[in-house]
Amino acid sequence: MNRLPFQYFWRHLAQRGVVLGDERKGSSMTVTGDCNKSLPSYHNIYLGKDSFCKTNTCPPPKDKTFLDIWQQEQNLQDSEIAIFSSWNMIKRSISHIPGSFTSSIGPEIFATKNPIFVKINENIIRHPSKWPQVRPDQYTWELALTYLKNYQPRFLAIHLGESDEWAHENNYPLYIKALKSYDEKLKELDDILKTMPNYAKNTIIIMTTDHSRGNGSEWTSHHAGNTRPEHFIWTYVMGGPIKPLSSIYHQEVPSHNITKQIIFYLHGIPTEISYPKLFSQIF
Ligand SMILES: [Zn+2]
Repeated sequence: MNRLPFQYFWRHLAQRGVVLGDERKGSSMTVTGDCNKSLPSYHNIYLGKDSFCKTNTCPPPKDKTFLDIWQQEQNLQDSEIAIFSSWNMIKRSISHIPGSFTSSIGPEIFATKNPIFVKINENIIRHPSKWPQVRPDQYTWELALTYLKNYQPRFLAIHLGESDEWAHENNYPLYIKALKSYDEKLKELDDILKTMPNYAKNTIIIMTTDHSRGNGSEWTSHHAGNTRPEHFIWTYVMGGPIKPLSSIYHQEVPSHNITKQIIFYLHGIPTEISYPKLFSQIF
């Protein structure tokens, strides 16, 4: 993770949780499987295993995602699981049954009768992004935080995407600007959670990336292949029983499937633990 755009994160958040995959600590973390692309990674994150999706146009997974299983195991309402995403294809990753849960994904407005979302929906219509599959991150963020404050869901996913779009356009200044805006958003989230102490004390934050980027002049790319630099990723986890260790050395090399395992472990839902040493370090 490039440290410079993430000043708030490294000053205020990192030491309150655990950073996995920090190569300066000798640690590695990778995507699940061998494809360093977005939809394959989102499929693998939500499935908790390799979906063998290799393109950004895969159909929804046939197996249940961890959200499907969690909802079934603990009888969660659709309103208790909310997904807000700037990129529209993520709707294929979250469930094996399209239309599950509460979501607003891609350029669409948030289909709700609650008037607190009217202003944001108006802005979504008025200010589309330059990419037809993508909603500006700012509105994805506003929807998600408004939902957080008003509904206090059990699971909230916020998928932001402008950094990747600018990188594909080889626009380094706007790529960095997008990353800095994510750092500001983390501060905003941190500040909001401080105003919700009862909710925050039972909240786990998991932050990760679908893939990283190539080195040097290849920074715009993220092609398939598990020897390429963009195969290596990081994850930050914080809250609840997770120890405040900041960046750690971990011998095991976790992948995206750790997200499902952490969530199930913390909710008492049966799961395999692929990284027992790492779990004993961080819990
Ligand atoms: Zn991309």
